[in-house]
Amino acid sequence: MTTWERLVASGRARRHVELAPMTTYKLGGPADLYVVVDTIDTLQEVGEALRAEPMPVLVLGRGSNLLIADEGFRGVVVRLGEGFSRVSIDPEGIVEAGGAVSLPRLARGIAAEGRGGLEWGVGIPGSVGGAVRQNAGCFGREVVDVLVEARVVSLADGTDRWAAADALDLSYRHSAIASTDVVVSARFHTSGVDPAEAAAEMRRITRWRKEHQPGGTLNAGSVFKNPPGDAAGAIIDRLGLKGFALGPVRVSPRHANFIEAEAEATAEAVRRLIEAVQRRVEEETGIRLEPEIQFVGFEDGD
Ligand SMILES: Cc1cc2nc3c(=O)[nH]c(=O)nc-3n(C[C@H](O)[C@H](O)[C@H](O)COP(=O)(O)OP(=O)(O)OC[C@H]3O[C@@H](n4cnc5c(N)ncnc54)[C@H](O)[C@@H]3O)c2cc1C
Repeated sequence: MTTWERLVASGRARRHVELAPMTTYKLGGPADLYVVVDTIDTLQEVGEALRAEPMPVLVLGRGSNLLIADEGFRGVVVRLGEGFSRVSIDPEGIVEAGGAVSLPRLARGIAAEGRGGLEWGVGIPGSVGGAVRQNAGCFGREVVDVLVEARVVSLADGTDRWAAADALDLSYRHSAIASTDVVVSARFHTSGVDPAEAAAEMRRITRWRKEHQPGGTLNAGSVFKNPPGDAAGAIIDRLGLKGFALGPVRVSPRHANFIEAEAEATAEAVRRLIEAVQRRVEEETGIRLEPEIQFVGFEDGD
């Protein structure tokens, strides 16, 4: 029996698992193999299986920055489970959160305990692990401003280390965390806050998002990274592309850097519209917008 077969036989890995419900776009096909890990030991076992019998791997967080191909993913999807959803606060106010914790839950939970500094995360529907890898941020704040260190397990070589924020090369929506690295935990600086004030600040952020972003639609946040000195949404808007649609997929009339899909859309249709917008912007302005969202399972995409 191969290591993968053992993982399947023991019920820890499953075959042909639909990924769409695990993403905010709710689109795309199944993964060949899917494993939820609740302990470092199981994660290490997955790493051993991968090294013994290599295949593409996707570390999936809350699927809020991904577009999965309609054909699905020919590899193994690794997801952190309940075992990585703990939050604790030490006497110095350093907050430690498991990689599976949702960022809004973390921001709200620590604010209620009188710790602030992560309020901006209340509207980012990702996990701690995904936020660290993407150096997620908004309103001028990002993970790099508050991260002390992250515990990273490599599925490629089995190393398990606490890496200082400086060592992770975090910059705008970028980090040195590899696609075979799993952020299992992260420690953040926080400061003392009045819980009521922090709650009011988070309500302001949530209200601003409701007014300016297409809440309640199927999307994965900003599609393109902002080019230096400009905003991708503003560029797309200046070209009159708000509302531009190809079938059941359209550039959001509310925010031009969001692309919304109807429930019956395909991932391919989303990708076609992303490419059409990218082409149009390049033709008209000479700026090549770089996608912020990640393409998974597309022939030329990952
Ligand atoms: C409505 C909406 C608003 C958004 N607003 C913002 C915003 O203001 N700012 C912003 O930065 N982003 C925003 N996003 C995008 C997204 O929420 C962030 O990029 C988030 O950090 C992704 O986290 P995730 O857990 O969903 O990651 P996923 O989408 O699951 O994965 C994204 C990447 O992170 C990797 N990854 C996931 N978990 C781990 C882990 N534990 N260890 C290692 N790698 C991992 C994946 O392999 C993949 O490469 C928004 C998205 C939506 C839908």
